[in-house]
Amino acid sequence: MTAAVIDGKAIAAELRARVMAAVRGLADGHGIVPGLAVVLVGDNPASEVYIGAKKKMSAETGMRSTDHRLPASTSQAELLALLAKLNGDRNVHGILVQLPLPPQIDPHAVIAAIDPDKDIDGFHPLNVGRIAIGLPALAPCTPQACIVLARSVHPSLTGLEALVIGRSTIVGRPLAQLLIAHSATVTVAHSKTRDLPGVSRRADVVFAATGRPEFVRADWIKPGATVIDVGINRVDAGEGKSKLVGDVDYNAAKEVAGAITPVPGGVGAMTIVCLMHNTLIAACAQNGLPIPML
Ligand code: NDP
Repeated sequence: MTAAVIDGKAIAAELRARVMAAVRGLADGHGIVPGLAVVLVGDNPASEVYIGAKKKMSAETGMRSTDHRLPASTSQAELLALLAKLNGDRNVHGILVQLPLPPQIDPHAVIAAIDPDKDIDGFHPLNVGRIAIGLPALAPCTPQACIVLARSVHPSLTGLEALVIGRSTIVGRPLAQLLIAHSATVTVAHSKTRDLPGVSRRADVVFAATGRPEFVRADWIKPGATVIDVGINRVDAGEGKSKLVGDVDYNAAKEVAGAITPVPGGVGAMTIVCLMHNTLIAACAQNGLPIPML
């Protein structure tokens, strides 16, 4: 069997079009333009690339974004003061603080200082807690992207055996919570899991989020299972070149799986559009308008 390739780019383009239409409706019907504040401390080159992509998509979807660039020497108090200002700004509906932060700043203190209603990354403890108890909340973007891609194959995840490999606070744990909310039967594996290949072979859907290049082998996949690869790893491709690979041995796994996401072009392609969707949700919620379910 050769797996169907789950086209993250195409699914992202559809979601982006729906976000764009909803943003236009919000502007035409209510005079509201969703506003995103992007905060970057220091000059980490990878962060520059990420925030560039986020700002580009916010413009493409009709949102307004403002840039707040602070030097690497910024103190925690200075960053918290900026966040207090953005929390109070009615034109800012979503606040994004690009991680990682310089060592003098505690990321937990920063995340906790963002108004939970503007926390479009879904990292604030209140949003984390609301998701854990099954209440509506701004959910982290990468786990949301994983759910959208899995549901492109299984519109209902109810009762499916879902394995999440990885328990990080930004991917594995929130993904497990979202899967529970979708009534999947969820197993979370991590570095201390015994017999991971055996655990994996039971799963109808495997989500790989370990940060280990091509870690998940083809013979860990139940024939016909769906594989969602969250990993983004840059590896040596020889002759001084590099390439991106996921956390799954894609070429071998696609001969066993029923459906699989590529890297690049899978989860990564979806993540930023989920961030725009969160900004739209935040703008609607802050104006007492119904939340568009896209
Ligand atoms: P972390 O390093 O924070 O977490 C990795 C997780 O994998 C940990 O829970 C760890 O277990 C587990 N793990 C590591 N080794 C093994 C092993 N041998 N067996 C089983 N589990 C193992 O990574 P992130 O969650 O931040 O990211 C995971 C991947 O997703 C990375 O490749 C990252 O680049 C990618 N990513 C992609 C995004 C996207 O938009 N597509 C966004 C965010 C991340 P333990 O807890 O026991 O240490």
